[in-house]
Amino acid sequence: MPWSRQLASALAVALVAPLLVSAQNPVLVPAKFTVVLDAAHGGDETGAQLASGVPEKTATLALSARLRSLLAARGFGVVTTRDTDTALDPDRRAAIANHANAGACLIVHFTASGSGVHIFTSALTPRPAERFLPWKTAQSAFVARSVALSGLLNSTLTQTGITVTLGSANLSSLDSMTCPAVAIEIAPERGPNGAIISQPFDPDYETRVASALAASLLTWRQQERAK
Ligand SMILES: [Zn+2]
Repeated sequence: MPWSRQLASALAVALVAPLLVSAQNPVLVPAKFTVVLDAAHGGDETGAQLASGVPEKTATLALSARLRSLLAARGFGVVTTRDTDTALDPDRRAAIANHANAGACLIVHFTASGSGVHIFTSALTPRPAERFLPWKTAQSAFVARSVALSGLLNSTLTQTGITVTLGSANLSSLDSMTCPAVAIEIAPERGPNGAIISQPFDPDYETRVASALAASLLTWRQQERAK
């Protein structure tokens, strides 16, 4: 995935006068627990080329649709940033997520390199929530909860036998989100010798990943509602 392109985009918009966004009250949990699914790339921005010849934009949209069904069947409210092959800029993605007042946001990427599932949280320095948060760094008030969500995803995926790599990154959409948010990147599944067992778009592998993500979000919803 071209993180560098997203970083360049973030730097470009950083020159614009900062806007203010209303912070979600971290104490209130909405009656319908909503998850935002952000299928990365789209339209002319195809993303990585996966081994099967499928462009990343198609794989992210397919997983988003899969997760939407799994979550809706479990009583979640689900908001997707895109349902068609369209390009969306990072600000638009964050705006959709923030409008949803979500309990969790998952940004979905795929990659032909690496192994298992990579989970990224924002590299912004955590800080307390305020009434208004500046656009581009709003996620700083949610980093602690995002790291907790990432830990839960990590443990569920690992229990399923999927290798997880945790990291942090500055992504302009993620950094503007006012909810617990993580970017996940599905990489090939590899055996102990590094040989590829499943390609990122393999249906069985994707089913296991999607099921683990949905199971994690069920636990996350329980934890958030118990607060
Ligand atoms: Zn990507």
